[in-house]
Amino acid sequence: MKDMLLYICIIEDCSKPDILYIGRSYRMSHIRHDHFECWDCLLCSSPRAQPMIFLTVRDLREHIKCDHAESVSES
Ligand SMILES: [Zn+2]
Ligand SMILES: [Zn+2]
Repeated sequence: MKDMLLYICIIEDCSKPDILYIGRSYRMSHIRHDHFECWDCLLCSSPRAQPMIFLTVRDLREHIKCDHAESVSES
């Protein structure tokens, strides 16, 4: 368990922008709870990367199309 870094929420209109989260999973649970309308890119998630958060499914799909074109085949 090396995920002990501090994170803040990166979503602009967050109601709790000053809270520090210990580890990505705590921040993700905040995002899931308080930003349930947001979407994070699972393809980008890795322990070292900042999560990619999108406000709409459309933005997420656009991102996947651009950045993960080779790993996703749209049918
Ligand atoms: Zn937030
Ligand atoms: Zn991505």
